[in-house]
Amino acid sequence: MACEPQVHPGVAGPLPTSSSGWGTLPAASPSPPGWGQELHNGQVLTVLRIDNTCAPISFDLGVAEEQLQTWGIQVPADQYRSLAESALLEPQVRRYIIYNSRPMRLAFAVVFYVVVWANIYSTSQMFALGNHWAGVLLVTLAAVSLTLMLLLVFERHQRKANTNTDLRLAAANGALLRHRVLLGVTDTVEGCQSVIQLWFVYFDLENCVQFLSDHVQEMKTNQESLLRSRLSQLCVVMETGVSPVTAEGPENLEDAPLLPSSPCPQETPLMQTELHQLVPEAEPEEMARQLLAVFGGYYIRLLVTSQLPQEGRTRHTDSPRVPCPCQLIEAHILATGCCPFLAR
Ligand SMILES: [Zn+2]
Repeated sequence: MACEPQVHPGVAGPLPTSSSGWGTLPAASPSPPGWGQELHNGQVLTVLRIDNTCAPISFDLGVAEEQLQTWGIQVPADQYRSLAESALLEPQVRRYIIYNSRPMRLAFAVVFYVVVWANIYSTSQMFALGNHWAGVLLVTLAAVSLTLMLLLVFERHQRKANTNTDLRLAAANGALLRHRVLLGVTDTVEGCQSVIQLWFVYFDLENCVQFLSDHVQEMKTNQESLLRSRLSQLCVVMETGVSPVTAEGPENLEDAPLLPSSPCPQETPLMQTELHQLVPEAEPEEMARQLLAVFGGYYIRLLVTSQLPQEGRTRHTDSPRVPCPCQLIEAHILATGCCPFLAR
């Protein structure tokens, strides 16, 4: 059956950025990959690949943990497994990833172009313009223009889709920070198959935590309104269930519906939406760790896809022009002015 799930654990190949060995794995050797070798910030430890099919799927995280152990990293499974799997493998999340993949968007665009071209052409026939070559050219130009506009809308939507999947890893990254591992997710298409890739990247974030902690403390002292303004934008809308038993009913009988909405009102789930602040007010160090957890997935996705902005100097990585997480957060999340928040 084509829907049979397939898991492809393995060690990642070289990253697109191959600058001075940073971001790449050491060359293959008969000994285990991490044997006697020093790890560098930003080094890919392993990547799990899984076909995004219609069947229930799961990451083979045990294989990843074995790979991490060869690097000398022990990650307690119970601290992150359920967080990572629930973040990425729920059916609605996988459908979301498929519908926002580039081939799917291109397919929509092609269908849209054909339909628009046919509609405009048939309309132009009513005005006796369709048979002339200039008329056909105008129809084609109009259809191309509308299709390009659609692609721009898709591109804008794609950024939000990436942001959503990145932020879903915040809880798992919060648990993995202390083990010097960050998770990131990317999706790709191989043949006609959507593939989810879960990246495990080494990062010792203590220096970043220290820098961000000092920076937040300084902002609290000198730029408190700016800090509040920036953090207030880091919110997600959450839908939570409310027990019908505890939910408040109408205050008087006049407001009550004449008929029950369902035969079993006790089983009807009541949902409420609430705004959840991703980085709540706390001690500077705690806020720094939360910032790194929230944007860890975003950083890793940009890192492994070579989309990180180039910096003049790096702070806590070994690559000369690649920013570390605290640089990215300082410049693109907490800085003054209009920053393209998560615009990649
Ligand atoms: Zn840093």
